[in-house]
Amino acid sequence: MVSVTFYGGVNEIGGNKFLLESENTRIFLDFGKNFAKEKLFFEEPYIKAREESHLLNLGILPAIKGLYKNDPENYELDGVLISHPHVDHYDAIRFIKDDFPIYCGEDTKSVLLAREFSSQSIGLGYEVAKLTSKSEEIFKEFHTFSSSQINEIGDLKFEAYSIDHSVPGSYGFIIETSGGNLVYTGDFRLHGSKGSKTLEFVEMAKESEPEILFIEGTHLCECKPSSEDEVKQKVSQIVSYTNELVLAGFATADVDRMKTFYEVAEECGRKLAISTKQAYIIHKLFEHEELELFSLNDPNVLIFQREKKSYRQYEKELQKEYENIVNATDISPIQKEVILVASLYDMNEVAKIKPNPGSSYILSQSEPFDEEMEIHYDKLLNWLSYLGIPLYQAHASGHATPHEIKWVIGEISPKKVVPIHTERPELFERYVSDLDIEVVLPKEGGKFEF
Ligand SMILES: [Zn+2]
Repeated sequence: MVSVTFYGGVNEIGGNKFLLESENTRIFLDFGKNFAKEKLFFEEPYIKAREESHLLNLGILPAIKGLYKNDPENYELDGVLISHPHVDHYDAIRFIKDDFPIYCGEDTKSVLLAREFSSQSIGLGYEVAKLTSKSEEIFKEFHTFSSSQINEIGDLKFEAYSIDHSVPGSYGFIIETSGGNLVYTGDFRLHGSKGSKTLEFVEMAKESEPEILFIEGTHLCECKPSSEDEVKQKVSQIVSYTNELVLAGFATADVDRMKTFYEVAEECGRKLAISTKQAYIIHKLFEHEELELFSLNDPNVLIFQREKKSYRQYEKELQKEYENIVNATDISPIQKEVILVASLYDMNEVAKIKPNPGSSYILSQSEPFDEEMEIHYDKLLNWLSYLGIPLYQAHASGHATPHEIKWVIGEISPKKVVPIHTERPELFERYVSDLDIEVVLPKEGGKFEF
């Protein structure tokens, strides 16, 4: 008998944690941070979960004896299989014992480590890895794979396929179990630069004649369809109309979006100035593979460093390696030749640049969908108003549209389908009810056997 217990990612977007148990093997499919639940109690940096008990007491982490760092009891877990390096899919691994192995793509690991080395640590003993002046200390045991490879964890065999999503290192899985094949999509889309990869995964998933399909449904209810190509067209138009500084805001690890802005910058005779965190992700990704991406030494690329008294270790590494690091003072006289990636947190630096009248800001990430983001967004608008810079929006989501989700289910044609990573599982059930595929609505903490 094989079973899956749903510990997160049910009736909510993110926080995926699915415990898959076969005869002799037990793994988690993702072990992500649950933003929605944490937000009910915490507000960083004023109050945050600094150890597992803070989250366990509130029922945010699953109460599993022996799983966590400070629990002396034993627990048998053969590994955590991570679909992609978005925090809501991996971040809670920091609370579990370090000897539970982590399985992920080689590129997934690179992005995950780059994020870990360039963010503030939550507290001593909870780092996944640490960067010191001497070395990289990695506290977890990572097992990495590349696309289309067959891998094994205990008695479970799985194939991982690279898919299109808004971060590099995104995979979908086909897992062979004694109860039949289980397909897990992770987060996916078809409209990005790697859409054909998602189609290949769908084809392989179909051929595997799965018993069960776990599919994400982030955009089932509210969907604003747009492709990466459309984003490029819009950005290109805005940049060509702007004679002065262009500022751009998008998710740090969205390398596809970075590439889009790079291409527009190149076409418009500008340089793209990315943040140090973004540069570090690219730096780490290039350590292992040839990317279809600009090199950090490209003459059209600048690395934008905030002016400060002391630098983090990852920044020092960049300073050692690259000569194209610039600050606000450097950008000011060449502002018409630059697209600068800048979020709300960079606005003190942007003010130092003194953007000339006629500058633009392009917001290229999801619009605010909750109160907290709304406040953040309002602050950004206040800054832009002070600086005299209008805001444009151009964005394509990291997730599939409803009709694509339905098409994928019909193509793969599993015996059963489980909607996950969606706030609207009932809508999902009705929307696909004509496909003649049994829909299983998961319950938090519930077990599903097959
Ligand atoms: Zn994601």
